[in-house]
Amino acid sequence: MRVIIKNDESAVAEVAAQLIADRINAHKEEAPFVLGLPTGSTPLKTYSKLIELHKAGKVSFANVVTFNMDEYVGLDREHEQSYYRFMWDNFFSHIDIPAENVNILDGMAADLDHQCRRYEEKIQWYGGIDLFMGGIGTDGHIAFNEPFSSLNSRTRVKTLTQETIESNSRFFGYDTAKVPRQALTVGVATILSSREVLILATGSAKAVAVREGVEGAYNHKWTISALQTHPHGILVIDEAAAGELTVNTYRYFKDIEK
Ligand code: PGA
Repeated sequence: MRVIIKNDESAVAEVAAQLIADRINAHKEEAPFVLGLPTGSTPLKTYSKLIELHKAGKVSFANVVTFNMDEYVGLDREHEQSYYRFMWDNFFSHIDIPAENVNILDGMAADLDHQCRRYEEKIQWYGGIDLFMGGIGTDGHIAFNEPFSSLNSRTRVKTLTQETIESNSRFFGYDTAKVPRQALTVGVATILSSREVLILATGSAKAVAVREGVEGAYNHKWTISALQTHPHGILVIDEAAAGELTVNTYRYFKDIEK
């Protein structure tokens, strides 16, 4: 695993956006570049930087297909907190991606299980995901793979933990009753099957999850720890999120990434 430690959130976003743009630009095949994407506060600055790069003519999404990580169950796509809305408002509306290249799970689908199976099939149909970007929850989740999710999991319905509901209530006027109880999410194995995985974490609230993911054991309590088994896993964090790493771990990664 590579761990890149930058000064602050802006620097994290810069590294992440540049890496994504570089991978898209290096992709010379006719088949589209397949990109996995998250929602949340963490990637917002990365999306802004990617929009800037696009507007400056430095990257095009015309031959990119995206698969989002997750979506709340029971929220209409037009609900202001749906991840569908989040992605269009904060990213897709500002770039040149064809609408038909965007894949987001539908939390209102009549048969949620069927939809999850189809999502995995569609990813396979495209030949798998080239690069999956994600964030980490304070409880160490990647996508909505909450503690004790199977590390071999695929796309499915998950029940959210109280910690996640409380954390996400900030988007629902701090009213936990308004936060959906379930979500559709890609599995840990869906993410790990991607050719490259890029996980971002910023702020001291993520420091314990980062420590468990980097220094802790491979363990289903901290699903981020599964990144340890990926041949091309990259964690980009800021100084605050690095705050719980041991001094030697911190020095090792600062030195090797110089
Ligand atoms: P955040 O969420 O970026 O809003 O902190 C990350 C996550 O829960 O995966």
